[in-house]
Amino acid sequence: MTVPRIPIAEPVLGEEELANVVEAVRSGWISSLGAFIPEFERTFAAFCGAAHGIAVANGTMALHLALVAAGVRSGDEVLVPSLTFVATPNAVTYCGARPVFVDSSPETWQLDARALEAKLTPRTKAIMPVHLYGHPCDMDPILELAERHGLAVVEDAAEAHGAEYRGRRVGALGRIGCFSFYGNKVITTGEGGMCVTNDAALAEHLRLLRDHGMDPKRPYWHEVIGYNYRMTNLQAAVGVAQVKRLPGFIDKKRQIARWYEKSLAPLAQAGRVRLHVEAPWAKSVFWMYSVLLADTRVPLNEVRRALAERGVDTRPFFHPAHVLPPYATGERLPVAEDLAGRGLNLPSSIGLEQDQVERVVQALVEALEG
Ligand SMILES: *Cc1c(COP(=O)(O)O)cnc(C)c1O
Repeated sequence: MTVPRIPIAEPVLGEEELANVVEAVRSGWISSLGAFIPEFERTFAAFCGAAHGIAVANGTMALHLALVAAGVRSGDEVLVPSLTFVATPNAVTYCGARPVFVDSSPETWQLDARALEAKLTPRTKAIMPVHLYGHPCDMDPILELAERHGLAVVEDAAEAHGAEYRGRRVGALGRIGCFSFYGNKVITTGEGGMCVTNDAALAEHLRLLRDHGMDPKRPYWHEVIGYNYRMTNLQAAVGVAQVKRLPGFIDKKRQIARWYEKSLAPLAQAGRVRLHVEAPWAKSVFWMYSVLLADTRVPLNEVRRALAERGVDTRPFFHPAHVLPPYATGERLPVAEDLAGRGLNLPSSIGLEQDQVERVVQALVEALEG
C-alpha cells in the first residue's frame, strides 16, 4: 500500500493570485513598472510596521542591497549567526566584507546576543540577526550593543514574516529588514524579496541601488554603481494577493504548531525530542516546525530515511556556515554544531491537517525506534 507523501512545504495559491497575474499580463506591464509593485511594497511594508518597502527579485538580493545601503564595504566585518541559510554570509561576501560567525542560543536556537561582544573588532560594521525557522531573535540586547558601537542592524527575516518580538513585528526593528518570497516561505511570489525600513533617505538609496544606481530625475545618469535587482510586476501581482492572506497563513502555521506540540508531547516527556518552544517575549510564525532529537541513538539521517519510507518529507537543519568549505577556518561554535547535528524540520505546509500531523508524529515514533 502506498500512502500519499506529505511534503515539507507547499505554497497555497488561489484565484486572486491567478486573476492578478492575468491582469498584469493583459496590461502589458510585465517587467518592473506596473501597478502591482508599489501596491505590494505598500501593503507588505505596512504589515511589517515599516514606512517603506523596496521589492527585489529575491531574498538574497534584498540582503545584499541592504548591506550595501548600510555602508558595508570591502574590509569590513559583519556579525552573523553561523546557523543560518548560506545566503546570509554570502551577502556579506558579495560586499567584499567578511562574515564573522557567532554561536547560537541553546534555548531559542537564534543568534546568541551574549556571544556578540567577544567578536567585535574595529572593523565590525553591522550585525545580521536571522529569525531562524520563524522564531524572532532576542533583539533588545542586539540593538543595544549596535547602538553602543555604532553598528547597523540588518535583519534577515526571510523565514519570519509576521513574527513578533515583544509585540512588534520583525523587519522594522533594525535599520533594514529583509524578506524572501521563495516558493516555500511564509508567503511567496515564486522568487522574490523585499527590504523594509522606516528611514526615508535609506529607502530612496535602496531604490537607486536596485535600479542601476540611476538618478530618477536624470535618465542614464549613474552616480554610483548599482544593480538590477528589480522585481517584476508578475511577481508583485502574486504578492499583492498573498499579503492579504498572510494573517490567516500565520494563524494556520501556529495552529499546526499546536497540533505538533500536542502529538509530540509523549516523545518530549520521554526526553526523545526537544520542541522549538516560544520564548516568553516571542510570537513565532513556525515557518518550519522543527524538533531536536534528544540523542542520536538512531542517527539523524536514518531517522529521515525511515520517515521518507513512511511518506514523510523532512529537512535537516542548515549546516553551520563556519563548517562549509568557503568559510571553514577550523573554528568551533559548539551550540550551532550541536543544533545542526540533531535538528529536523517537519512538514509545515499551510494546507496541512491535524490527521496528517498525527501521521508525521506516528512515523517519527516508529523512526526513533530504529
Ligand atoms: C530563504 C532564505 C534566504 C534567501 O532568500 P532567497 O529568496 O531564496 O534568495 C536568506 N536567508 C534565509 C535565512 C533564508 O531562509
